Amino acid sequence: MEKKIGTTTLSTVVSDITTLRVDAVVNAANSSLMGGGGVDGAIHRAGGPSILQECKKIVSEIGRLPAGEAVITTAGNMPSKHVIHTVGPVWHGGKKDEPAILRNAYTNSLKQASRHGLKTVAFPSISTGVYGYPVSRAASVAVSAVVDFVKAHPDAFVEITFCGFDDTTEREYASALQSSV
Ligand code: ADP
Repeated sequence: MEKKIGTTTLSTVVSDITTLRVDAVVNAANSSLMGGGGVDGAIHRAGGPSILQECKKIVSEIGRLPAGEAVITTAGNMPSKHVIHTVGPVWHGGKKDEPAILRNAYTNSLKQASRHGLKTVAFPSISTGVYGYPVSRAASVAVSAVVDFVKAHPDAFVEITFCGFDDTTEREYASALQSSV
């Protein structure tokens, strides 16, 4: 699935995000920035120890990363150049501001990317693993946040990719992208 807004192509793909050759892959981190399971573990394994070193330095400067915020490191041994670490919300049934926090995670990741002049960015399905956010709801929040940002900054990016680890997840983002305006 692809959609073009200004100079930016929005696309979906099924892939291991650690293999993508993009300016930045986004990490669904946790507030400690010390690594973990899921995509976070995969990124630290593929990138090597330099990413954790940089994360420790960030934590020593700013402390824990609140949900919805984003910071940037290099990507170590991965083919991508940078990792943007963001923290999605834990799903508590939808009454604890989860959509607004998830939206901030996407928007603040794109702010970091554009601040650093990065043109190609890939997102995993933030919060829909261990954090339990229902995928179809997360996909509509994610796509709406990214589409709104790109409409407001139509020449900032070349390609933004929603990377599903499995077909079912990718289909949810493709369908959210299809129905977005
Ligand atoms: P969270 O804690 O934010 O829920 P998870 O890492 O548990 O984050 O899951 C987020 C999504 O990332 C899930 O859809 C999971 O299948 C997916 N995922 C796990 N490993 C990878 C990977 N290597 N590349 C892309 N997506 C991945």
